[in-house]
Amino acid sequence: MRCSALIAIALLGLCAAARSAHGHGMRSAYIEITQTAPDRARVAITGKVPVTGVALHAAAPCAVDERSESGGRGPAGSAGGEGARPLLIELHDVARYYQMGDERIAALDGVSFAIETGEMVAIVGSSGSGKSTLLNILGCLDTPSRGQYTLGGRDVQDLSDDERARVRNRQIGFVFQSFQLLHRATALKNVALPLVYRGVTARERNRQAAEALARVGLSHRLHHKPFQLSGGQRQRTAIARALVTQPSLLLGDEPTGNLDSATTEDIIALFHTLHAEGHTILIVTHEPAIAARCPRAIRIFDGRIVADGKGSEIAYEAPKVGAA
Ligand code: ADP
Ligand code: MG
Repeated sequence: MRCSALIAIALLGLCAAARSAHGHGMRSAYIEITQTAPDRARVAITGKVPVTGVALHAAAPCAVDERSESGGRGPAGSAGGEGARPLLIELHDVARYYQMGDERIAALDGVSFAIETGEMVAIVGSSGSGKSTLLNILGCLDTPSRGQYTLGGRDVQDLSDDERARVRNRQIGFVFQSFQLLHRATALKNVALPLVYRGVTARERNRQAAEALARVGLSHRLHHKPFQLSGGQRQRTAIARALVTQPSLLLGDEPTGNLDSATTEDIIALFHTLHAEGHTILIVTHEPAIAARCPRAIRIFDGRIVADGKGSEIAYEAPKVGAA
C-alpha cells in the first residue's frame, strides 16, 4: 500500500471533525485503506456510529467507502454485494404522466428503488420505456406527478423552481447524448459556466475548469471551440462541465449515443475511472455491452421497473412484459 500516509491522516482528521460536528464520539471505528491507483486510495470506515457521507465526500481525491457494523440499509435489489453505504437516492412510487388530449400517457408508472453513494448503475430499456423521463426526474430537470424523491436525505419533489435549480447546480452533473455545449464558447468557458451561477470569480472559474478538463485528458484543448473538437473530445468537455461543480451524482442520458465504437469505449472507460474514484453514476444506455460492465443495472419497460440486479445478468435479458 503506497497511498500517502498524509492522505490517510487527513481523512482521519475529517472523520473526527465530521463526527464531533454532529455530536458523535469516535467509538469503535475501523479504517481500511486499499490502494486503487498509484495516487489514490479507497478508504472504508466501519463503525457503530454512522459517519456523515457529505462530510466524508470532502475527502476527495480519495474515494470513501463507508460501512456500518450493523449492516446498514442496503437498497432493495442492490447487486453490489459490498457493505451498505449511505443512500444517495430513494424513489418511492414515482410516476410521471403526460396528458395528450383525452389520453394520459404514463411515462413512469410507480417506480421505487434506492441507490447507494458510490454506485454505478445502468438504466436500460427499449425506446419509449421511460428512461429519459426517469433521468430527468433524478436530475431535478422535471418533477414527478406522484411519489417521493429523496436526494441525499432531502425530499426534492416539492421544492420551488429556484430551490430545485440550486440542488441541480450543487449536486448534479448531467451529460447528454448531444453534448449540449455552447458553440461559440471555448472548452474552458463551457466547463466554467456552471460556476458562474455560484458566484465564483472569473479567475477561480478558469482555474477549476482547467482542472476539470485536465481530469478528462483535455489540458491541450482548453481554447478549442466545440466545432474544433472531435465527438469524443466534445463529450469529455461535457463530462468536465458536469464534474466541475463536484456533484454528488453524475447522470448520463445515452452519453455515447452519438459516438463511434472506439470513442464509446474511451468515454465508458472514463465513467468507470470516475466510479473507481468514488462518484455515484447513473447511465441510460441501449447498448447491452455497456450495461453488462456496470455493477448494477435497472431495466424499465412501459414506465415500470422489470428487473434490477447485476449488469452482466440484466443487460442481455429480454424485457419481461407485464412484470411489476
Ligand atoms: P426513453 O428515454 O426510454 O426512450 P422517454 O422517457 O423519453 O423514453 O419517454 C417515455 C414515454 O413518455 C414515451 O411514450 C414518450 O412518448 C412519452 N413522453 C415523453 N415526454 C413526453 C412529453 N413531453 N409529452 C408527452 N409524452 C411524452
Ligand atoms: Mg431517452
